[in-house]
Amino acid sequence: MRTYLIHRCIPILIGTRTLLPRYRRVGWSKMNQKSTQKSHTTATSNVGKMQQIVNSDSGNGWDRCWEEGLTPWDLGEPTPVLLHLHNTGALPKGRALVPGCGSKLSNMEQGYDVLAIACADRYVVGIDISDNAITKATELSSESPNAEHFTFLKADFFTWHPAELFDLIFDYTFFCAIEPDMRSAWARKVHDLLKPDGELITLMYPIEDREGGPPYKVSVTDYEDVLHPAGFRATSIFENELAIAPRKGREKVGRWRKSASQSCL
Ligand code: SAH
Repeated sequence: MRTYLIHRCIPILIGTRTLLPRYRRVGWSKMNQKSTQKSHTTATSNVGKMQQIVNSDSGNGWDRCWEEGLTPWDLGEPTPVLLHLHNTGALPKGRALVPGCGSKLSNMEQGYDVLAIACADRYVVGIDISDNAITKATELSSESPNAEHFTFLKADFFTWHPAELFDLIFDYTFFCAIEPDMRSAWARKVHDLLKPDGELITLMYPIEDREGGPPYKVSVTDYEDVLHPAGFRATSIFENELAIAPRKGREKVGRWRKSASQSCL
């Protein structure tokens, strides 16, 4: 029997949507309705190029994509639902980690999830395996008035050993970016990086039938399959009503905690 509560987002979430800044809206392979056929074709072929590079150069593919500006995942704005959780005081304070943070090139002032949730009560670490992404993110954020509350590090999530653990890990577009056979290792690493009472928030995307990747298709069951053995239980799972238009209906938010009765063996 499922132990978690299924919530639908409350209407107030929809209300806040209009308060959020409007930037370019992208999906990895689906463009918004206003896009022309030509830009749709360009976006689709960019996804194809990106996949070819990542899949043919496992050591360096992501970095090459950043270097060549092939970043079709880039929202160009902070993830709206994350910003909403932050603005409503619904995120854990302390230390937060954003794995595979990228650098959100399109909006340099406030486009990073890392910057968006950094504050005096929360120190945020963004890591990415790409040197180019981290160099860019560091440069673009150096003037931020928030600078003392976050840092960007070039690191491989799977082999990284930080000196301090985290109260929050936010995963969006990272779980779907790694190869599906790495998902169990992802769950064990999340477990190891979180404090005993820490929280994992997953923005699950893309929930759909699609071939190949990245992004690889995901389902709630895919997360449960690796998170349950790693000792996590969901405290809530709900539809992301604040998803950008091209991703609407294909995203769910999951909030997960370590279960006292489970160990990560
Ligand atoms: N979260 C960002 C980027 C998503 S693309 C955004 O939404 O814009 C996936 C990111 O994961 C890429 O920036 C890639 O460089 C990074 N990545 C892939 N494998 C990684 C690993 N093993 N460790 C850390 N980052 C990784």
